[in-house]
Amino acid sequence: MNANFLQTPISYLKGVGPNRADTLQSELGIRTYQDLINLFPNRYIDKTQYYKIGELQRSNAEVQLIGKIVHIKTVEQKRGTRLVASFIDSTGEMELVWFRGQKWIRDNLKLNTPYVIFGRTNWYSGKFSMPHPEMELLSDHEKGLRVAMQPVYPSTEKLSNKGITNRVITKLMQQLFMETKGQFAETLSPALLDELKLVSRSDALFNIHFPKNQVLLAKAQFRLKFEELLYIQLQLITKKLVRKQRIKGFNFDQVGEFFNTFYTDHLPFELTSAQKRVLKEIRQDLGTHAQMNRLLQGDVGSGKTMVALMTMLLALDNGFQACLMAPTEILATQHFNGIRELLGSMGVQLALLTGSVKKKERNRIHETLENGELQILIGTHAVLEDKVRFKNLGLAIIDEQHRFGVAQRSKLWHKNEIPPHILVMTATPIPRTLAMSLYGDLDISVIDELPPGRKPVKTVHRYDNNRLKVFQFLKEEIKKGRQVYMVYPLIQESEALDYKDLMDGYESMVRDFPLPNYQISIVHGKMKTEDKDYEMARFIRGETQIMVATTVIEVGVDVPNASVMIIESAERFGLSQLHQLRGRVGRGADQSYCILMTGHKLSTEARTRLETMVRTHDGFEIAEVDLRLRGPGDLMGTQQSGLLNLKIADIVKDNDILKTARFHALKILRADPLLDHEENKVLRQTYALLVRHKNIWNYIS
Ligand code: ADP
Ligand code: MG
Repeated sequence: MNANFLQTPISYLKGVGPNRADTLQSELGIRTYQDLINLFPNRYIDKTQYYKIGELQRSNAEVQLIGKIVHIKTVEQKRGTRLVASFIDSTGEMELVWFRGQKWIRDNLKLNTPYVIFGRTNWYSGKFSMPHPEMELLSDHEKGLRVAMQPVYPSTEKLSNKGITNRVITKLMQQLFMETKGQFAETLSPALLDELKLVSRSDALFNIHFPKNQVLLAKAQFRLKFEELLYIQLQLITKKLVRKQRIKGFNFDQVGEFFNTFYTDHLPFELTSAQKRVLKEIRQDLGTHAQMNRLLQGDVGSGKTMVALMTMLLALDNGFQACLMAPTEILATQHFNGIRELLGSMGVQLALLTGSVKKKERNRIHETLENGELQILIGTHAVLEDKVRFKNLGLAIIDEQHRFGVAQRSKLWHKNEIPPHILVMTATPIPRTLAMSLYGDLDISVIDELPPGRKPVKTVHRYDNNRLKVFQFLKEEIKKGRQVYMVYPLIQESEALDYKDLMDGYESMVRDFPLPNYQISIVHGKMKTEDKDYEMARFIRGETQIMVATTVIEVGVDVPNASVMIIESAERFGLSQLHQLRGRVGRGADQSYCILMTGHKLSTEARTRLETMVRTHDGFEIAEVDLRLRGPGDLMGTQQSGLLNLKIADIVKDNDILKTARFHALKILRADPLLDHEENKVLRQTYALLVRHKNIWNYIS
């Protein structure tokens, strides 16, 4: 069936009047035949299989079984009763449970008679159970028509109120297949179909709506998911190629004095192989005459600063200036001090620019930046002010990107006619799954290895009533000369309450850890910046042993002597936040600890978060769990990305298919960037059509 026919308005389909057409459009966005075909079932009811009790998985799936009821009893519960039947087959026993209609069921069920039952299974206190099963006598079942797999389409309240039930949609789909004879134009190239052994588009669409069995369904799903993801990747990669061709960048083709001297004489440790690999990736970018726009992801403590410094030295070697921006004054100062120390006597001119730099120094910075004497500028947002003008800024590095908006980033671009190379560093890992689709048009480097000799932070979960023991432990650590963070949640909606928690916590700490043996700092959002910085500085210098704080300390601070991180009401923090907080300790050579404190009442999700923290230190694994728990909708940057508008693929579950699609999209575009080779004709036509009908507009940010 040709593509134009599929653009026929849905009201032309037999069985769809103007009313139904309106409802279909408003509820499901279905305007055309094409839209209806692309309404994919959420799931299937599989009545083609008969399972044995012994084969059941704890997957909460819907299953069909044959067996008999051997016993039935009424069980008292908190409110009312439930009816529980023991159901057996040759492989085991399970329970059937009813909360409603108990009398009717008791009166009508036959004991010791074969039944076919269907429903969702639960795994509960060591046994499978099925609440409110559909039941049919085996003898009746054998006489009746065998139903194959039934698709279950997305539905809304309004749809069912207007009588557009699942059955009706299935009917419409049948009608559509009749009118189109089930023939749909192929949208993938013969080469792809062949190489990946994909079923044709017509077969796929038929089996997605009317699957005969699981195998055919799986083939149909794979083909359609692959297709959806392939076109998105083609789009993203094309965008990236266009950007690379259009946006000229400075060419850094020299590796010179600065880089080499630093590497041979000043590097205090061997680079990890991940650091080396990332530096290589960056160097490759810098030598292509195109602007670099690279995201560097690396877990807390993975050594991103060293990569930043060495990249800046490359800029210097090519006669350019470089700048490094951090989101807070504390961080910028730490970077400045650290880098100054590393560079030692190399004679690199560098300066620190923050809001609190005095006028005189500020003027000097402005002047030397403009005349080119100053080579490296490190600072906060202050760097972005219009007065700050570089002679020839060749590279801008942004640390902890999520604190900077896109607008701020683009300000950096406009400090020059040719934009500087941009390197954005983040310790908030974006799951690989998402990164590929979300930032398909950015280049990404990953430091996936920590410097050697790091001891993983020992992480435990403790309940509030164990507080005394925890405090005892703190005293021991402090006695060894260590320092402690104690973090309280501060969540906007309940700010007043949270603030009270924090102050109560602080006071109880002061009682339990009294002067003069113990000094306690406190930092929270309501304090003036100077006071915060003062308290922070005291802690950094080791004058206080305990830092009670809200999450303001989350980003980047480096106090290697701090060995314990206590997180209060840990159940209220998101996973990535917990991981960031934990990253504040474990920076020195000594064993560090992270203690997650909670009450006894915890939601399943909170428990999963805590268990994940206790189990793993891998930021990427944590990010994946986070993604699974919250879905992509809550992760930064996904709202606009349209990832939620996927019709059939699931960005989390279909990660493997995504990788396959990306691999093939890259391969195709490398050989044929404009898709104008004969063998890619189908791809080009489909692509153009998708763009024309705005079917992939969602994915273009
Ligand atoms: P982050 O990636 O969190 O910004 P940093 O750059 O602050 O991490 O590095 C954390 C610590 O690890 C620093 O003290 C740094 O000097 C040290 N470090 C970085 N790279 C290495 C390495 N290859 N070997 C040993 N220590 C390293
Ligand atoms: Mg850092």
